Amino acid sequence: MKISLRDNGVTRILLLLSSLLVACEPETRRVLDREVVAVGSQGEALYGKTGSYWPADASGITVIPVCWTTANSNSYKTWVRQTVEEQWDNNSSVRFTGWDACNANTPVNAIRIKEEDSNARSYVGVTSENPSMYLNFTFANWSQSCNDAVDDAWAPGDDREYCIRVIALHEFGHALGFYHEQDSPENTPNTPGYCNNTINQQPDGQVITQYDPDSSMSYCAQWNRKTLSTLDVQGLRKIYGVAPVEFRSQYSPFPSACTLVNEPADYNHGWADNYLCTAGSEGVSWHNSGLPPLLTKRCTQITEVLDLNGWLDNYICVPTYSPLQFTYSSLGPVAGMRCASWNEPADPNNWENNYLCYTQRLAFSPAGKIMGTHCAELNEPNDPDGWKDNFLCTDQAEGLAFSATGTIAGKRCTLVDEPNDSAHGWGNNYICVSTNSTLQFQWSNSGPIANKTCVAWNEPLDSAHGWSDNYLCY
Ligand SMILES: [Zn+2]
Repeated sequence: MKISLRDNGVTRILLLLSSLLVACEPETRRVLDREVVAVGSQGEALYGKTGSYWPADASGITVIPVCWTTANSNSYKTWVRQTVEEQWDNNSSVRFTGWDACNANTPVNAIRIKEEDSNARSYVGVTSENPSMYLNFTFANWSQSCNDAVDDAWAPGDDREYCIRVIALHEFGHALGFYHEQDSPENTPNTPGYCNNTINQQPDGQVITQYDPDSSMSYCAQWNRKTLSTLDVQGLRKIYGVAPVEFRSQYSPFPSACTLVNEPADYNHGWADNYLCTAGSEGVSWHNSGLPPLLTKRCTQITEVLDLNGWLDNYICVPTYSPLQFTYSSLGPVAGMRCASWNEPADPNNWENNYLCYTQRLAFSPAGKIMGTHCAELNEPNDPDGWKDNFLCTDQAEGLAFSATGTIAGKRCTLVDEPNDSAHGWGNNYICVSTNSTLQFQWSNSGPIANKTCVAWNEPLDSAHGWSDNYLCY
């Protein structure tokens, strides 16, 4: 049995209405109908709409308001939110916020979702349309196999829940600015995993990475999972990256390096699962009692004088060589610095105006570009161990550039090598800056250099080849 949920008539009419509106149906087929497509290490994902991406705010977080134009169906709405947060949010700087009823306070640019029994579809990228996305919870007319008496093998567990989650994952990809993967000009008949299904030319399309037949944005990908492909995540991180420094008031699997910042005396107000996250491993440590290790680290006190529950001896520290320079403020952001909101919403004692502010001249990220900064991509194409989404970034433009094939003419370049990984191409790689930059780099593949400012150049997925003690210093 082949289950086809497509109604091409409807699709074409909608495409005529607006070229921005992408009509989508789950290409829901039994897994047995699918070819298993091998995605080699050369393959990466996602095809985007140029200029449609949501902007990050000054703290490097991409806040995207979401609201519902239709009431009720709360359990189904929860499935949508869970899947979107687990996949799109937790792999990037994106924070879909709100999720309440749309009203006069909804920002102009927002994702306004209408639930109705029609084909799921969404505008692509930043939008002020109302609605901007249509989701289907009942499947009485469209995609009836998602909610009939048959427990289909292609939908593990409850069919309706499966369909709601999988379709939401795909539609929110459109809302983030991603077209269908099969629209990529790299999807050609001779390409492995060629998808010959509803290919639309996109004049403003941007090939973010190479063609990925397993993308959640492809009509030909297997409909047996509620997760992004590995290569979707890499592409997502090229566009939406990570914040330089972010405070998170509850646990989630983080793409960045996170440190628990708890206060045992204030557990009742939510201070048990809070984290401070940095894009790269900055050696951040947290001390919630007594004096911090002031001889070996640079520490900043975190305090809210109106909260008497243990907040008199709390410190966030970094190694003395770190470029991170923190300033804490319980009276709003500090002018001239980037600031991360330090707030536990469950605590009534005046945290909403607290900020951890910072400057950071140089930063390394193993999981996406650092939002709001100037980044160079650090890809050694011969290394298969996690180097597809690494970036080095500076607060100000310093002309950073990376080369996997020798020095770059016209720039001042420093060799970046790891002798234990020479088999994967590391030996002729250089990090370069403009000749007028005051950054004077020095490389170490055996720990930080004394009396220098250093960032860990660390890809955790490649620690077996010596990458856990490498530093770029200046
Ligand atoms: Zn679609």
